[in-house]
Amino acid sequence: MEPKEARERMVSGLRSSGHVRSQRVADAMLAVPRHLFLPPEMQEQAYSDTPLHIGQGQTISAPHMVAIMAEELDLRPGHTVLEVGTGSGYHAAVMAELVRPRGKVYTIERLPYLAEMARRNLEATGYAEEVMVTEGDGTKGLPEHAPYDRISVAAAAPRVPQPLKDQLSDGGKMLVPVGSSWYQDLVRVTRKGGRFQVENLGGCVFVPLIGEHGHKS
Ligand code: SAH
Repeated sequence: MEPKEARERMVSGLRSSGHVRSQRVADAMLAVPRHLFLPPEMQEQAYSDTPLHIGQGQTISAPHMVAIMAEELDLRPGHTVLEVGTGSGYHAAVMAELVRPRGKVYTIERLPYLAEMARRNLEATGYAEEVMVTEGDGTKGLPEHAPYDRISVAAAAPRVPQPLKDQLSDGGKMLVPVGSSWYQDLVRVTRKGGRFQVENLGGCVFVPLIGEHGHKS
């Protein structure tokens, strides 16, 4: 099957399951060639709704999780976004589609090998101008480009990292999986002035967020 056809099937499946609810998210997921974010030997599985290994013990999130997060984060054109946990760069590319035009996605990855791979993937697929990959400990955020309208954390934290709350704009929203290293709740934090509203969106499983304000190892 051609990648485009596989992608159409994937998105229509995600619509039936209720994970994709808006045309905007459907269009973004139809636009991004997920297979080009995977190592060659994994590309055949790119459009199955499952997480896949991308090297260094890390995984690209399943399409339904990317869809849930894209819907729940309510990304708008022009938004400045921070992603913690770049991995393959796929999720960052989907968010870049949703903040066009004028939006920008800053994404931070702690493993240099993956940061480099993501840069190459984003370059090859035409997202290098809108997505900036930085190497480092994303539990500290990325203060030089703050505040962020939206923050998307793609790894599991023991608690919401304080620096990420501090770097959220007034009215800004953040999604972060919070819990143990084997099971978490996807939490949405909305900033209103000095107050933070917290909602639990349900169970999920992510690889651990490792860093100063995350898990220790
Ligand atoms: N969004 C990715 C999937 C991310 S998997 C995609 O679309 O492919 C989670 C990633 O978070 C892993 O690559 C892991 O190395 C990274 N990570 C874990 N702790 C981190 C930290 N403190 N800062 C930045 N990245 C981190």
